[in-house]
Amino acid sequence: MAIASINPYDGTVLQTFTPLTDAELETKLALAVTAFATYRRWSLTQRAAGLYRLADALTQEREQWARLMTLEMGKPIQAALAEVDKCAWVCRYYAEWGADFLQDQAGPLERLPDGTVAQTWIRRQPLGPILAVMPWNFPFWQVFRCLAPALMAGNVVLLKHASNVPQCALAIEQLVTQAGFPTGAMQTLLIPGDRVASLVADPRIKAATLTGSEPTGMSLAAAAGRALKKTVLELGGSDPFIVLPSADLDAALATAVTARLLNNGQSCIAAKRLILHATIAPTFLPRLVERFQAVKMGNPLDAATELGPLATQAQRDELHRQVRQMLDAGAKCWCGGHIPPGPGYFYPPTVLSDLPPSARDIEFFGPVFLVYVVPDLDAAIQLANDSPFGLGASAWTRDPHEQERLLNDLECGSVFINGLVKSDPRLPFGGIKHSGYGRELGEFGLLEFVNLKTLWVKSS
Ligand code: NAP
Repeated sequence: MAIASINPYDGTVLQTFTPLTDAELETKLALAVTAFATYRRWSLTQRAAGLYRLADALTQEREQWARLMTLEMGKPIQAALAEVDKCAWVCRYYAEWGADFLQDQAGPLERLPDGTVAQTWIRRQPLGPILAVMPWNFPFWQVFRCLAPALMAGNVVLLKHASNVPQCALAIEQLVTQAGFPTGAMQTLLIPGDRVASLVADPRIKAATLTGSEPTGMSLAAAAGRALKKTVLELGGSDPFIVLPSADLDAALATAVTARLLNNGQSCIAAKRLILHATIAPTFLPRLVERFQAVKMGNPLDAATELGPLATQAQRDELHRQVRQMLDAGAKCWCGGHIPPGPGYFYPPTVLSDLPPSARDIEFFGPVFLVYVVPDLDAAIQLANDSPFGLGASAWTRDPHEQERLLNDLECGSVFINGLVKSDPRLPFGGIKHSGYGRELGEFGLLEFVNLKTLWVKSS
């Protein structure tokens, strides 16, 4: 089946691509191996210079790349521009700090019985071709946040991007080539997801990183396990957004709206469950509904648009099916909850309360907020943790004791107090439980795909 780039704003087919044949895939794998043989010899200074050039190339044509993302998956253009800038930032971050993270580290001196000494070091070396399986929701950022550290560490990357963003995938390959990295240092593989398992088993692939859904994570980890390959998994989430009475309620409200609707509601770290203390819920909830109803939905290329279409028709239909499932089970709908007439894969901002227990297992990947009301802090923490996921959490309170309880007791990869959960090139990012394992970004992200080689040398 052809790989199609479809504009979710109106359903027009922008371009189609024929998936790689087995022979074409073989050629790309072979090229990755030869590229790695050259590239691993590049000095840290050369690799950093390449990343600076890549950052400059992104920045120089930021409008072009942003527009491409918006056309292929519908994110509002302002968010797409910010995404390009963040990709340039992560390239510059690893260019600046990568050499520090990759320095040889001196180990202990060992005095030997014959009077000589042995010196020890830890050296950080690349693994080889890394397979990166990526989703469509941040078509540039998801790729760059694993690409930049992988290239800095001396690895080469084979990108299997989501099938609905092939133009973004090819554009990223073009950018890396233009930045002067060796041919084959980063290649895009236009193949469907069902061909990934056999690719992971190929001995030339040394490790795999996936950002995607929970079922895909299980499938990829099983394939990688059978082939004894290291994986990093960044999977789904159902992040809580907790508001307690002492919080700055205006700031909490404004951030809750952003946290749920950012990227048309299609973010792993979007706030998906709003947990309100009972004393503030009667006023906070109607204000949220009012704000949701005022959101400007429309053409994502229009700078004034706040909410664009969902990325695909299948994505929109699945979200609506989940909402129907909640309503059939007795949930209350405060706003939204219907598919609007007209072209495009739009879904309105939706608020649901009185949810059935089954809601806890579902990731709503679109502009749907699940609202819960709790009597106290303990109940808020218990509810927040009562989820198979553990990605991020945002909690709002001015009380230092409550802050410490939340920081300590929430079970997830990151906790933000009085702020929006976000990724940052300088800080490790990832989840626990069914949100995955391993980390991206910061020093820890770079070290996921290096061999920590222990060196021991006896003086003669
Ligand atoms: P997805 O359906 O799991 O797809 C992700 C990638 O996996 C795509 O490239 C897809 O290719 C590929 N794939 C599909 N089936 C596969 C299989 N059996 N084996 C290996 N690869 C396979 O996820 P999505 O709908 O694109 O993205 C949304 C999900 O990603 C959400 O759950 C979201 O929470 C999660 N996400 C997590 C993070 C994080 O950092 N934790 C960040 C962003 C998104 P095809 O397109 O060809 O099917």
